[in-house]
Amino acid sequence: MSLMSSKKIIVWFRQDLRLTDNPALSLAVDNGTIIPVFILDDDAPENAALGGASQWWLHHSLLSLSKSLNTKLLIRRGEPLAILIEIAEAFSADSVIWNRLYEPWQRERDENIKTVLKNRGIAAKSLNGSLLWEPMSVLKKDETPYKVFTPYYRKGCLTRQAPRFPIARPKEIQIADGVNFSMDALTSLQLIPKTEWYKDIEAQWQPGEEGAANRLQRFISEAATSYQDARNMPAVKGTSLLSPHLHFGEVSPNQAWYAIQGAFENAFDNKDLDVYLSELGWREFSYYLLFHWPEIQHKNFNAKFDFFQWRSSPDDLKAWQFGNTGVPMIDAGMRELYQTGYMHNRVRMVVGSFLVKNLLIDWREGERWFWDTLLDADMASNSAGWQWVAGSGADAAPFFRIFNPILQGEKFDKEGEYVKKYCPELKRLPKQFIHKPWEAPPEILKACGVELGKNYPNPIVDLKLSRKRALDALAQLKVIS
Ligand SMILES: Cc1cc2nc3c(=O)[nH]c(=O)nc-3n(C[C@H](O)[C@H](O)[C@H](O)COP(=O)(O)OP(=O)(O)OC[C@H]3O[C@@H](n4cnc5c(N)ncnc54)[C@H](O)[C@@H]3O)c2cc1C
Repeated sequence: MSLMSSKKIIVWFRQDLRLTDNPALSLAVDNGTIIPVFILDDDAPENAALGGASQWWLHHSLLSLSKSLNTKLLIRRGEPLAILIEIAEAFSADSVIWNRLYEPWQRERDENIKTVLKNRGIAAKSLNGSLLWEPMSVLKKDETPYKVFTPYYRKGCLTRQAPRFPIARPKEIQIADGVNFSMDALTSLQLIPKTEWYKDIEAQWQPGEEGAANRLQRFISEAATSYQDARNMPAVKGTSLLSPHLHFGEVSPNQAWYAIQGAFENAFDNKDLDVYLSELGWREFSYYLLFHWPEIQHKNFNAKFDFFQWRSSPDDLKAWQFGNTGVPMIDAGMRELYQTGYMHNRVRMVVGSFLVKNLLIDWREGERWFWDTLLDADMASNSAGWQWVAGSGADAAPFFRIFNPILQGEKFDKEGEYVKKYCPELKRLPKQFIHKPWEAPPEILKACGVELGKNYPNPIVDLKLSRKRALDALAQLKVIS
């Protein structure tokens, strides 16, 4: 049975919670009456089960999608194959269409669903709705995948056919009778936690397609042309803040890609814009790595690191998680994450380096914490980010490059505004001590109301000694492997 002859088509929404530039939705709308459905997959493996912050986001994103569909969206929970078959039977649908996902377990599941549906006479079709270039289409001349970002992006991607231009939002969507949104069904997914830790998050983010469009517009009018430098300053809103919207597919990378090129002439010749577009390229590269090396979420890309002697220290891990390490730049970052569900990219690199190198704690502990607390938690970007920080990844920062959180703070948070925002107990310290309060004379600490070890911790590690310990561990690794 061909999709084109179908009259009733199930559109299976997943990480593409938008109407504009949604290839699956547009194809379905052009060919018949649709039955839109979102299914919370109970069979997701443990390492892919949604973290708390992502669950909150998903709840609100589904509400927003349902509103855009005139409250005609089915919400289900359970095993997708069985649910799709049940819906196909209930609505006499003869095809199912979706946008592809690239996480290994989802690829496997979707392949199986396609086969079973086809065997039952239900047409199934998948399209690319979330990447500029799909991983299988970008290979080196010898047909093997790239491992280094710059040749992957500049030679592999930019010389290929330009990414799809965004598809307009469908003018009219015919939705089958009987499709209705049920608040009870959404509530039964239990995505909203019982304790209201998300109040600060709620004030700062607007999940859904409209929130994504606003963020993109703000970035273009206020920050795009100063991106190259401003993106490194955690106290400045110098980046697009699109990551959770991109993760849930409330905006496609194609929309961002062409919005930039539409708003400014010769974007690739402008350093700020070129760097921004290349960051979208890093997102593509992360998916590319996950596609070609599906184990990167839990296995060192560079197998040499399998021999690394990590420390186990639940106390240090907890101090890091909750921003109580006594190192202001680290604590500000970890508190930003915990309070807002977001952390600035530069600070992600600095706190990651501190965990893995100064504390010698396995990068997978950091990956898990980020997975649970980030609104933009994304298997591809998170795994690639952590392996990059740890030095165990493809095209990664070498292990011996250990970020010094004092110097990073003095360079990128010169006035200490970022630290003062998230560590208010330090806010009266003069800027020469804000990133290293332990060096402040006792009378200054006293005058500023800082009591180290009482209202702000003493550092849990000596930065110089722990740096040496990390380099020794690396040297040891070289001997073993
Ligand atoms: C240890 C670590 C973990 C990370 N975990 C995640 C994660 O779970 N989810 C996630 O989306 N990003 C992750 N990143 C990448 C990056 O920090 C965020 O994408 C970025 O901070 C999001 O802010 P923004 O949207 O304002 O980015 P912008 O600077 O405005 O960039 C635009 C978009 O490009 C993409 N992007 C930018 N930098 C990167 C990068 N280094 N790698 C991949 N994509 C990038 C994002 O989709 C982002 O929204 C991680 C980075 C590190 C170092």
